[in-house]
Amino acid sequence: MITKLFLFLFPLEEKLIDVPQEIVPVAVPAPVKKAIALTFDDGPHPEFTLRLLEVLDRNSVKATFFVVGKQVRKYPEFLREIQKRGHDIENHTFNHPLLPSLDREGVIRELERNKVEIKKQTGFEPVFFRPPSGRYDVKVIEAALSRGFIAVLWSVSGSDYGATDPENIKQNVLFQLKDGDIILLHSGVEATLKALPGIITEIKMRGFEFVKISDLLKVDNELAKKETYIYKNFKPFILEKK
Ligand SMILES: [Zn+2]
Repeated sequence: MITKLFLFLFPLEEKLIDVPQEIVPVAVPAPVKKAIALTFDDGPHPEFTLRLLEVLDRNSVKATFFVVGKQVRKYPEFLREIQKRGHDIENHTFNHPLLPSLDREGVIRELERNKVEIKKQTGFEPVFFRPPSGRYDVKVIEAALSRGFIAVLWSVSGSDYGATDPENIKQNVLFQLKDGDIILLHSGVEATLKALPGIITEIKMRGFEFVKISDLLKVDNELAKKETYIYKNFKPFILEKK
């Protein structure tokens, strides 16, 4: 019986969020010890994806890619390459809109359209999604769950989007890193590629294992039906289930 739920927030990005109350997506942690998940948003990218995959391969690390449907449509060969090398592929919407600005049907369309695109190229149907810029509200979470999509945010941000200094990214990631953290990075950033080998080396030295989101989180369908989210202020925490 599952007794705990992990709730992933985004302490470093909270200024982006303007929802009055926190709605926390729910997933169930799988029993993995000393695990860290690396996630890369916004790909596939024609210039960067292959180089990123090479860095991961050289270091024997598996990661999770939250891909954007319009990029998948333009660069399907890079999506298939991500799959071929054994990484997770998950949903980051088709057009990368801020989901709270859409109506319920619009939210569903964004997620379904990307799912179809990913399935067409890989045969795989993603279950997890990450809302662009981490922006969501009650409507977004409920609309997504009505189609079986579970939101996954992050607990550590490299703050790499638009960044140029690899050392800053490295420090952002490694500062206060702990078991079960989900690290947010981006697919199309040169400084991220430069920072990555050092980040991976340090995380391994601290004794963590790299896992994919599908290793770290298991979806409990029954639970998702009953207790899909709770309200809480910004703060990562573990909820004991009665
Ligand atoms: Zn994004």
